[in-house]
Amino acid sequence: ASGYSLLRDPHHNKGLAFTEAERDSHYLRGLLPPAVVTQQLQEKKLMSSIRKYQVPLQKYMAMMELQERNERLFYKLLIDNVEELLPVVYTPTVGEACQKYGSIFRRPQGLYISLKEKGKILDVLKNWPERSIQVIVVTDGERILGLGDLGCQGMGIPVGKLSLYTALGGVRPSACLPVTIDVGTNNEELLKNEFYIGLRQRRATGQEYADLLHEFMTAVKQNYGEKVLIQFEDFANHNAFTLLAKYGTTHLVFNDDIQGTASVVLAGVVAALKLIGGSLADHTFLFLGAGEAGTGIAELIALEMSKQTKAPVEETRKKIWLVDSKGLIVSSRKESLQHFKKPWAHEHEPVKDLLGAVKAIKPTVLIGSSGVGRTFTKEIIETLSSFNEKPLIMALSNPTSQSECTAEEAYTWSRGRAIFASGSPFDPFEYNGKVFVPGQANNAYIFPGFGLGLVISGAIRVHDDMLLAASEALAKQVSEENYDKGLIYPPFSNIRKISANIAANVAAKAYELGVATRLPRPANLVKYAESCMYSPLYRTYR
Ligand code: NAP
Ligand code: MN
Repeated sequence: ASGYSLLRDPHHNKGLAFTEAERDSHYLRGLLPPAVVTQQLQEKKLMSSIRKYQVPLQKYMAMMELQERNERLFYKLLIDNVEELLPVVYTPTVGEACQKYGSIFRRPQGLYISLKEKGKILDVLKNWPERSIQVIVVTDGERILGLGDLGCQGMGIPVGKLSLYTALGGVRPSACLPVTIDVGTNNEELLKNEFYIGLRQRRATGQEYADLLHEFMTAVKQNYGEKVLIQFEDFANHNAFTLLAKYGTTHLVFNDDIQGTASVVLAGVVAALKLIGGSLADHTFLFLGAGEAGTGIAELIALEMSKQTKAPVEETRKKIWLVDSKGLIVSSRKESLQHFKKPWAHEHEPVKDLLGAVKAIKPTVLIGSSGVGRTFTKEIIETLSSFNEKPLIMALSNPTSQSECTAEEAYTWSRGRAIFASGSPFDPFEYNGKVFVPGQANNAYIFPGFGLGLVISGAIRVHDDMLLAASEALAKQVSEENYDKGLIYPPFSNIRKISANIAANVAAKAYELGVATRLPRPANLVKYAESCMYSPLYRTYR
């Protein structure tokens, strides 16, 4: 290959870091200015220019441009500055990027599969330049973050999530495939926008939708085999539960909005027991919000409780109550309930709102997963604190504006007694001379390590026990020093080590369940996971 094309190949380009010898042997003489610099210096220069941008979207575009120009340097930046750059390449900035995708769109990333490709999806997969794919993240764009239907512009999500699979979980970038399935959009503004990049029609539903998804799932297995992980991302809940149930027995599938969220929240709850006392089964849980997040978390907590107490899950579910937009979910509503809410319809008289439910159920743990901000009011938190020495409050709704309460509110209204964690980050808060550090229940703690664990064991199915294994490994990473500050999640700066531990625990479970195909089982799975992780350091070209 010519030096000119080497400079334009993001997988191999090193820019000014090409050595004198490489410039000679790879026809690069004259195509670069004379200076030879290190990757560290390149990183320093880029970080300083990214920090100069005031507008988050500009930082995002600078990072995307870097990813298209020099992939290893992109990952070096992301790994070394994870706390600073995670909100740039992922939520919240990626949300704005998706909304404006039409106008910032330059070079297509990922694979677009629309209704036009019906009947030809296998051929479409073959157009992708990489052959050996390990992780696919796929969206249909119907429920992007908390932003609703963004149609084809949802592509920013699989692209961003997969960059975290690589940076945080160490899955090779060339083994990652972002996919957007375009069946139309019901977003009127996009349909009217002359720059919209997707199919200009309303969403296909029913059989037409199911058929396209089925063709995709079949083609993926045919093209990449059984060991490719397909992560469903940001599907609306009327499709998310159905797809997960339908393909869970034939494919290696995972839904981060349902299962990843559940695993990260369970880890926080388990860690919090050190601070609030008791075992899982001693607690009573109340949720505001009974959608993908709420019912997914509730089910995993009930499952872990059932493992610990040997009681059937039908029994342990009774320790968990959910409130939706119509009030407390109770058995008298059963007929009209969506199927994923039915397991939570316990015997109780109707209660119309959250405050009433808090008074009636007297929960020890309150979890917000409704997407509606400011719903954990002063009265609710004071009531909760009146019968709990240390209430656990998790305000999971994103973005920050939708958080059920702020860290300051949780600490102040509970008079410094609440253990608090949230979906969006909050700064530490000082109350009565003590500094409280809120934990962030970020899915990025779990899915990269979870995926790596599946990949390194060659797992062919996801089992709920693997989600429990991931939670357990994450909870174990919280140190005494973290607990002293009220933290129930470990700091993100250690995420590669955390991911390796999660991967090892997930892989161990895959072997135990007999769904691992990579044989023999490596003796030390943590070491093995670490040895498999992608490094962004430059290679030397001979
Ligand atoms: P979803 O499937 O649409 O579910 C939303 C649920 O909230 C539904 O049960 C809905 O009730 C209920 N709800 C809406 N407005 C309400 C109100 N005013 N009062 C009571 N209940 C109300 O959404 P999702 O995927 O579960 O996501 C929910 C939120 O969780 C989002 O903000 C998301 O950002 C957040 N989340 C956080 C994390 C994390 O922190 N790691 C992970 C995933 C999601 P009906 O069923 O009656 O409509
Ligand atoms: Mn999501």
